[in-house]
Amino acid sequence: MHEYAIAKGIVDVVLTTLGDRECVVKKVWVKAGVTKAIVEDALRFSFDVLKKQDKRLAGAELMYQVILLRGRCRNCGAEFEIDRISGLCPVCGSADVEWLAGDELFVEKIEISDGNRESDG
Ligand SMILES: [Zn+2]
Repeated sequence: MHEYAIAKGIVDVVLTTLGDRECVVKKVWVKAGVTKAIVEDALRFSFDVLKKQDKRLAGAELMYQVILLRGRCRNCGAEFEIDRISGLCPVCGSADVEWLAGDELFVEKIEISDGNRESDG
């Protein structure tokens, strides 16, 4: 299950970013390209298991966003976004397509609460 490895990578990035800092992570924003073919439920499940390794992360919520595949056709010049891999230009059907985005995977933002205690429930 490659979602587990991806979730581990996400948790590692967050923990590296935090260092020794005392805080509570509330949300972790992750963007992943469609070509990663991530099953979101599996990713969330793995993240929920892995986050328990650090109490700062234990209550964190995963905010997952898919990056569409973006390409430019070398034949007709069209630029387009698609949500799955066909490899063909949707305008002219050419396979001579340059892919510009859709292969990324990164932690975009980490929302932390830094011990300033607002009574928020
Ligand atoms: Zn085309």
